Amino acid sequence: MDVPVDILNMSDIKKDMLNFFETNQKMTLTSVNPQIILMAETNGTVKHFIEQSTHRIADGIGLVKVSKWTKGDIKERVAGIEVMEEVLLFANAHQKNVFLLGAAPEVAQKAAENIQHKYPNLNLVGWIDGYTELSDHDIVAKMNQEKADIVFVAMGSPKQEEWLERNMPKIQATIFQTVGGSLDVMSG
Ligand code: UDP
Repeated sequence: MDVPVDILNMSDIKKDMLNFFETNQKMTLTSVNPQIILMAETNGTVKHFIEQSTHRIADGIGLVKVSKWTKGDIKERVAGIEVMEEVLLFANAHQKNVFLLGAAPEVAQKAAENIQHKYPNLNLVGWIDGYTELSDHDIVAKMNQEKADIVFVAMGSPKQEEWLERNMPKIQATIFQTVGGSLDVMSG
């Protein structure tokens, strides 16, 4: 359906995190599943965001099955939340600055606390919930002021893809990941 998906496993992603930091390139990790592919058919912003992303993750068994039927090369599902955990481990090992955007206020706060507790060597430099009155400009300014290296956007689709499509060029971070409802899981 003309939406690109990358053939990736976790060790490719781990290697690339280091490379992208070393070469100072932006790395965009985004989950692709059948629902998002259908959305991309009618939402050009989502489609463009996926096309421009560096790592399009086959998140969900749906794409693995389609690939099998069509004799494609996607052999395994890579769950977005597991990728997020790898990114957090990387952040912990390299003492990176992490910023969260999205989820309900109490969920975002609790997820931030839990992440900082579980990964004590990373710096959770800020969080903003996904229902904030703040403008894009103010959110971006805060991320840059806090020197975010890694930004997770958890506002569901298409909001999170549209937000990054508008704002990513202005944010001086290296890794960006759309994480859907993952903060809800991490807050529990
Ligand atoms: N959300 C948000 N702002 C909005 C709408 C949704 O921050 O305007 C959050 C919502 O609170 C939840 C996440 O986005 O934490 C969406 O999760 P959902 O399960 O819909 O996403 P999925 O994992 O299915 O992509």
